[in-house]
Amino acid sequence: MHTAALARSIPFFPYPQVFLSEEDDLVSIFRDVGRRGAFILQRDVAHFEENLARFLDVRHAIGVANATDGLLIALRAAWTESGRCDPGSVEPGSEVIFSSHTMVATAAAIHFAGATPVPVECGADHLIDPAAVEAAITPRTRAILPTQLNGRTADMDALEGICARHGLLLIEDAAQALGARFRGRCAGTFGAAAAISFFPAKLLGCLGDGGAVITGDSEIAARAAALHDHGRGADGEIRGWGLNSRLDNLQAAILDYRLQKYGAAIERRRALAQAYRDALADVDEIVLPPGPGGDPDHFDVYQNYEIEALGRDELREFLAARGIGTLLPWGGKAVHQWEALGLRTARLPRTDDLFERVLLLPMHVWLAEEEIADIAGAIKDFYRGRVFGGRNRKER
Ligand SMILES: *Cc1c(COP(=O)(O)O)cnc(C)c1O
Repeated sequence: MHTAALARSIPFFPYPQVFLSEEDDLVSIFRDVGRRGAFILQRDVAHFEENLARFLDVRHAIGVANATDGLLIALRAAWTESGRCDPGSVEPGSEVIFSSHTMVATAAAIHFAGATPVPVECGADHLIDPAAVEAAITPRTRAILPTQLNGRTADMDALEGICARHGLLLIEDAAQALGARFRGRCAGTFGAAAAISFFPAKLLGCLGDGGAVITGDSEIAARAAALHDHGRGADGEIRGWGLNSRLDNLQAAILDYRLQKYGAAIERRRALAQAYRDALADVDEIVLPPGPGGDPDHFDVYQNYEIEALGRDELREFLAARGIGTLLPWGGKAVHQWEALGLRTARLPRTDDLFERVLLLPMHVWLAEEEIADIAGAIKDFYRGRVFGGRNRKER
C-alpha cells in the first residue's frame, strides 16, 4: 500500500484560482468600473440581469446581495400568489416544507419570512423526496421549497403535481443549480420564484457574495425589485418596507463576463463527473452520484460531487494524509440535526443515516483528470484489505 502524500496536494476548492485564473481580465474590469464610479445599481447590473434571464429562458432576473436574501425576497414577493394571505405578509404558523439536506440558509429564509420551516427526508439521489413532502402536508402548509442540490434538479413533475393538488406555492432554492435542467427546463424556472447564489465556490462565482432572484411573473418581479432596494419602485416611490440587498455593480460586471464562458464550465464539470465514474465505478464501498449521461430527464451541472462512503470518517482522514481535501456537507449535519434551531423534533432516520456516509470530493473547473486518477487511486488504496459490514453498493 502506498502511504506517501501526493507530490502536489489537491485542495477541496482552490479559492485563489477564482481570481488568479482570470487576473488580467478581472483587473481590467475593476479599472473600468472604478473609473466610471459605477458602484451601485449601474448598467453592469442591468446587463447581467438581462443576460442571466436569457440564459435561463425566464422573464426576470434581479441581482441581490446573496442567495439567502434572495430566498427570503422570493418568498415574500411570491407569498401573495398563494392567494391565502395579505400581500407580503405571512400568517403566523404557516408551514413551508423543505429537504433537511440543504444549507441552513434555506430554512433561515423560511424563518425570517415569518413561516415555520418543516424539514423532510431526501431520496436516493439526495434531493427532496416527493413522497415525504406529501406526507408532511398539514392544513397549515402554504409552500414547498425544494433545494436543487449539487447541480441537479428535483423531480419537478411530482412536486408541481403536489403543489397543484394542494394549492401550494412552489419556490426553488436553485443556489447550486445554475443551468441544471429537468426535462429541458432550467432549475429555478418551475416555481413562482427562485434564488441562485454567486458565492465564490458556487458554479458561477464572483469575488465575494452575490445572488439573484428569478421569476417568470412580472408582479413578483416588481415586488422583489422593490424589496431588494428599500421598497422603492422603478419611479423611486416607496411601495412598502424593503431591505438593502443589492448585487454590487462590480460583482455584476465580473459575473456578466463569466456568464459568457459558463457553458464551457458546465461541460468541464460534466466531463469530470464522468471521469470520477470511470475511475470509481468498481469500488463497492462507495455510491456515486448519477452520471452525466443515461437519464434523459436530468441534465446535471455538478456543483458538488457527493458520494456515500462506508467508513467515511476514516476515509476522509486517509485522503487528508495523502493531501486530498474533502468536505462534509453543511459541516456534517442536516438542518434538523442542529440543536439550536429547534427542529430536532423532526424524525428523519433516512437523512440521519445518510449523514453518516456522505462526503464531498473535489469538483471544480480547475481540477485535472490526473488529479481524479490520484483521488480514485487513494480511495482504492484505502478500501484494499479493509472490510466494512453493513450496506454495500446500491445505484442511485
Ligand atoms: C450556497 C447556498 C445557499 C446560500 O447562498 P448565499 O449566496 O451564500 O447566501 C442557499 N442554499 C443552498 C443550497 C446553497 O448551497
